[in-house]
Amino acid sequence: MRLLHPFALPLAALISFVACELPTAPSSKNGGEATVNAGGNAATATQGGERRVSGQLTVEVLDVGQGDAILITTPKGKRALIDGSTGNSGESPMPYLQSRGVTSLDLVIATHPHADHIGGLDEVVKTLTVKLFTDSGLPHTTKSYESLMALVESRNVTYRAASRGQSFSFDGGKIEVLHPGPTPLTGTRSDLNSNSVVTRVSWGGACMLFTGDAEEPTEAALVAGGLGQCDALKVAHHGSAHSSTPAFLAAVQPQLAMISVGEGNDYGHPDADTVTRLQKAGAKVMRTDTQGTLTLTTDGVSLTLTPERGGSPVTVRARGAGAGATTNTPTSGGATTPSSGLLNLNTASAEQLAALPGLGEKTAAAVVAYRAAHGKFKSVADLDRVEGIGPATLAKLEGLVEAR
Ligand SMILES: [Zn+2]
Repeated sequence: MRLLHPFALPLAALISFVACELPTAPSSKNGGEATVNAGGNAATATQGGERRVSGQLTVEVLDVGQGDAILITTPKGKRALIDGSTGNSGESPMPYLQSRGVTSLDLVIATHPHADHIGGLDEVVKTLTVKLFTDSGLPHTTKSYESLMALVESRNVTYRAASRGQSFSFDGGKIEVLHPGPTPLTGTRSDLNSNSVVTRVSWGGACMLFTGDAEEPTEAALVAGGLGQCDALKVAHHGSAHSSTPAFLAAVQPQLAMISVGEGNDYGHPDADTVTRLQKAGAKVMRTDTQGTLTLTTDGVSLTLTPERGGSPVTVRARGAGAGATTNTPTSGGATTPSSGLLNLNTASAEQLAALPGLGEKTAAAVVAYRAAHGKFKSVADLDRVEGIGPATLAKLEGLVEAR
């Protein structure tokens, strides 16, 4: 029953293989699509619109040098790991996983078989209980990939090639595979990068996009496939110049952008123009080389991105949250995590205000100065009394701030 070279098998065979071992059988659409439960007892998600979730989902973009390793944890302790960095000293995700008490992973996604994404997965698969392993399914013959596949096999880990349309239920949230499609991209600058497994994670009304090392051809395919807005983006390919195209950013309109990148790397990542494009698209950009591990939490109504160092938390409202939606977990921490999910103009710091769309440092300072001189804002509309804020800025702030 074990697969020596899983990628050599047809996709249909792999999916039926998985169907035998997972608690929920795939519901097959168009022959190749499947819905499965990642890890068993996950609650069944509601169909369409905003999904009901309980508690906070945590996403950690780990500080693992020049590579990617992203840990996703549900409030009930289900976990998914996207990539495993290089495995070199100081770049392995294992110390982080162990420090968080992780002994098993419900899902491991290897976005593509480059060493800076799969190098550390050997140790992960060897040490932890992995319930399901998925990758792009492309044939690849490097020693590191072969040894990883041999481990997946010897440890009896269920393997499955990712393909657009697959979806994993995750304690009421959802992990959807958006790429690669049934026919891999070929003839690109890097076919391995271009066929990176791209996933969209939904938690209530919050959307998070994980892109591996996808490049321009992948982004074009995603946009052509109808990719829409998403609140948070794990920036593709360590912020390289070959990704994060204007067309892609215009479609996604990320509010938060996370770059996983090594300090002083040889590739010049992240590319300065790419960072500027992300900022111009309206994203608050954080990066692991200067800010350490980036922790994103969401209750499905708002999302808060917190750097380990070098900056303050930033909170944005999930665009997919309904107008009347409120957070479902008690929170503390005042302006950073307000109970409504909105940033309170009367307690927010200048730095938090500066991160809002259309404000910037100067106007944020003017807001704080106005507050000090005139007392609390009675309504959001009162902001128009502050120098530099007009109707256009007020419109941008709608749904993000409150005065209480
Ligand atoms: Zn990479």
